[in-house]
Amino acid sequence: MVVQQDNLEEKRIREQLDEIKIFYEEGKRKVKCFCGKTLNASIVPHLKKNHPEEWEKWCIRFVDLRNEGLSYYRIIHKFKANDRLLFTTSVVEKDVQRIIEGKKAKLKVPCKKEIDRWQQRI
Ligand SMILES: [Zn+2]
Repeated sequence: MVVQQDNLEEKRIREQLDEIKIFYEEGKRKVKCFCGKTLNASIVPHLKKNHPEEWEKWCIRFVDLRNEGLSYYRIIHKFKANDRLLFTTSVVEKDVQRIIEGKKAKLKVPCKKEIDRWQQRI
């Protein structure tokens, strides 16, 4: 069976998400990363620092999902760990912008800024 590269990436992200656990300890939110480390509150700084290559793949996946027409709200609901949200929409939005500005991936749907610029030219 031929498996597309995209599907492989998606499967890997899925597997990593399955390994992440969000839980509460004495009322405080904790996140256990797929590497086994437990983080306070947010996993994002840890992912950026300790798993930059993986994080980059996740961000490119965010762009892909945007290109499939999903809103940021829908995207964060695709990245859940034990049914709890891992990211906020602003985290995803910021990193989608970063990926596009770094020209690592393209957004098919023009963002609002581009539309404004385009209108100004007329
Ligand atoms: Zn980790």
